[in-house]
Amino acid sequence: MEKQVKALSLLSGGLDSQLAVCVLREQGIHVEGITFSSPFFGPEKGTAAARALGIKQHIIDFTEDILEQVQHPAHGLGGAMNPCIDCHAVMIRRAGELMEKLGFDFIATGEVLAQRPMSQNKQSLGVVARCSKYEDLLVRPLSAPLLPPTKPIREGWLDVEKLPRFSGRNRTPQIQLAEHFGLKDYPAPAGGCLLTEERFGKKLRDLLEHEGLDTDRTNVWLLSIGRHLRLSDRVKIIVGSCKAENELLREKARPEDLRIVCPDQPGPLTIAPADIDEEALQLACAISARYAKKSKPGPVRARISGPDGSRELFVEPLSPDDVQPYFIA
Ligand code: SF4
Repeated sequence: MEKQVKALSLLSGGLDSQLAVCVLREQGIHVEGITFSSPFFGPEKGTAAARALGIKQHIIDFTEDILEQVQHPAHGLGGAMNPCIDCHAVMIRRAGELMEKLGFDFIATGEVLAQRPMSQNKQSLGVVARCSKYEDLLVRPLSAPLLPPTKPIREGWLDVEKLPRFSGRNRTPQIQLAEHFGLKDYPAPAGGCLLTEERFGKKLRDLLEHEGLDTDRTNVWLLSIGRHLRLSDRVKIIVGSCKAENELLREKARPEDLRIVCPDQPGPLTIAPADIDEEALQLACAISARYAKKSKPGPVRARISGPDGSRELFVEPLSPDDVQPYFIA
């Protein structure tokens, strides 16, 4: 009996990644998904897709890999802090390593030729494949007939003539193919990676320039929570903007960080570094008080708690105009 060919397919959960799985399975190939997780993108959409497709999913922590690519992007950054070419290459490399470990035959991705002008033109796809170190075991099933044939195609493990010839930004062919396969729930094409967002990129750049990365990466995870304000080269504060964010900050901030609240009125939890100087602490309390719901005129009581106990200050809330210059993004 012939051995069934097995492919490991990158599964972000987007439509293209789901279609790649479907067209391979249509050719009798056993497909499992591989999804990457980091502080900038989670595995949830991939998990939902794997469930809908009925395939096994492997989730890989990509935090250290993506932080390395963000800091040293060999092929540059996209519009924000997104090192897409290097990121794709390393994702494929990690998929290749898992492929070898699990005894699979090749790797697949949902990349479509020329869908993104910079990171998915023919040259970029070639760079990604070469840098992944698994160039000859990589198949892009949605554009395979338009790309150089790799080993799985040369060896006839799949019939390239039966694969789509998708190219360009027009999504209509993908949507038609989704109907053919009965795919209904798939996320919108853009979005899902914080590194592509300009405002988030500014916060990450600020962190790298002023603080560097916490060993346990806490300050990276905190980037997606609350308002981030820089008071000086050494002091950044984070102000929760809703109850849920206050809870998250309480849970995720470093144990040594100071917590500032205005106990007499509803308002934010503010996180400040333990080594904050007195002048900056006064300012942090005044900013925190600006976001508290003030019921009467006059100074506001601010309580500062840390590992060594708590103390209180009375501060005048800063005006919105005076807070503005401190915003990082
Ligand atoms: S959008 Fe984000 S996850 Fe996707 S390739 Fe670019 S950096 Fe990587």
